[in-house]
Amino acid sequence: MDTLLRTHSSFEFLHPLHRFAGNLTNLSSSKPQIHEPRLSPKKSHLKWSHGGCVKASSSALLELVPEIKKENLDFELPLYDPSKGVVVDLVVVGGGPSGLAVAQQVSEAGLTVCSIDPSPKLIWPNNYGVWVDEFEAMDLLDCLDTTWSSAVVYIDENSTKNLGRPYGRVNRKQLKSKMLKKCISNGVKFHQAKVIKVIHEELKSLLICNDGVTIQATLVLDATGFSRSLVQYDKPYNPGFQVAYGILAEVEEHPFDVDKMLFMDWRDSHLKNNPEIKDRNSKIPTFLYAMPFSSNRIFLEETSLVARPGLKFEDIQERMVCRLKHLGIKVKSIEEDERCVIPMGGPLPVLPQRVLGIGGTAGMVHPSTGYMVARTLAAAPIVAKSIIQYLNSEKAASGTDLSAEIWRDLWPIERRRQREFFCFGMDILLKLDLEGTRRFFDAFFDLEPRYWHGFSSSRLFLPELLTFGLSLFGHASNTCRIEIMAKGTLPLATMINNLVQDRE
Ligand SMILES: Cc1cc2nc3c(=O)[nH]c(=O)nc-3n(C[C@H](O)[C@H](O)[C@H](O)COP(=O)(O)OP(=O)(O)OC[C@H]3O[C@@H](n4cnc5c(N)ncnc54)[C@H](O)[C@@H]3O)c2cc1C
Repeated sequence: MDTLLRTHSSFEFLHPLHRFAGNLTNLSSSKPQIHEPRLSPKKSHLKWSHGGCVKASSSALLELVPEIKKENLDFELPLYDPSKGVVVDLVVVGGGPSGLAVAQQVSEAGLTVCSIDPSPKLIWPNNYGVWVDEFEAMDLLDCLDTTWSSAVVYIDENSTKNLGRPYGRVNRKQLKSKMLKKCISNGVKFHQAKVIKVIHEELKSLLICNDGVTIQATLVLDATGFSRSLVQYDKPYNPGFQVAYGILAEVEEHPFDVDKMLFMDWRDSHLKNNPEIKDRNSKIPTFLYAMPFSSNRIFLEETSLVARPGLKFEDIQERMVCRLKHLGIKVKSIEEDERCVIPMGGPLPVLPQRVLGIGGTAGMVHPSTGYMVARTLAAAPIVAKSIIQYLNSEKAASGTDLSAEIWRDLWPIERRRQREFFCFGMDILLKLDLEGTRRFFDAFFDLEPRYWHGFSSSRLFLPELLTFGLSLFGHASNTCRIEIMAKGTLPLATMINNLVQDRE
């Protein structure tokens, strides 16, 4: 039998779960959880059915997924010395892109910074993709390892959009090394642990770590990503979820142009022999995202743009297996895999609050796209600048007052209004089935580039966003317009209500 993935006669997959993963069954009602890596692979059973696809009996990763491979950077990190009991100006909890960017910039101004992370040298696990212009604007082109001169979207079997916008893959090793080097030369100290609690006093905060160490700081920045470890929320947390399963694979061949990245492939002809999956996909669609590096090395990711609750990995993997088989992609080996769960939209954290936040923990993911790296890296100088300004100011201020000023700079009213509009976009996407989603993106990618680029890169603010909305409506087919009106009326009313209530 012709097999999609290199396999044995009985098609079995292993499940060495790692990274951010969760049981998605009840994601809508609870905080997503970071699970510790499961070191012993769990077998589950995916078997070929007569339809030519596979049946999943439980969540599964592909058999070819390698054992957990954690690569550390080769750096000597200057460690925080707890015996001195020094009160540092800023503690940054979490050493992802957001946390390190702020640590680097605050320390550059001569302030004392301690960065706490359980694995400070670990190369970030996520395969980040960005629009090249976003990284160019931050002078970070040296941190892209591959760029594609354009991207392509398959709306369906008959319609393709060529997006003349270069796309790049972040060289996460280079980006993290660059940030760490700057942090080290600016005097940042590192502590390898998890923060389990924070206690606030009038002028300082105490961070209690899981190794028993307490670190004192004037300001605390929570950059713990979607685990939202310290920042407080006071409204029910009800985001949508982007869920994706990706593999970086060596394949015999693939049908994609290596000069173009595949931004979205909404085709569903791979499901024609499988009515059950086809039906699931027509209700909550998934698309293929792919970065072809060469004719036989490619990153392939089956993605649910947004759903509430999020789709299960088993479901996504099943669809992916069918798609790859249909495309004639035979996987020879897998270098790494990625299980992606990104909470999108939902409420912002309490504004202001004593603990500062940036990145995933501070509601900064784009609610309609799930992208965030470029947005947070661009926001880091704003947060750093206000931290530096307020800590250096002559006025004696309590920790609470300092934090309030900094939160205002992170989430000014224009950004909150922008986010409200993006959440409106997400609420519409949540209601669209496959056909509706296709109609939506058909109109979206026909917009003038300044509109769709600006929307996807968080560069449009409210007055322009309204023009964007009208333009989208103008480009939409009549069916799409009726659909937007029918499905968007309630989200529109919610957005208007939230905008009216949220004042300076
Ligand atoms: C699989 C995946 C793929 C993604 N791909 C893209 C993409 O292509 N493009 C894009 O723009 N966005 C992408 N995102 C969204 C987003 O950009 C990333 O999640 C990004 O890593 C968030 O950065 P961060 O610094 O906020 O958090 P993280 O990168 O999650 O870093 C948080 C850090 O905090 C540490 N930490 C957690 N709890 C504690 C604690 N209690 N004490 C101390 N440290 C703690 C963690 O160990 C981690 O090192 C992706 C997300 C995922 C999950």
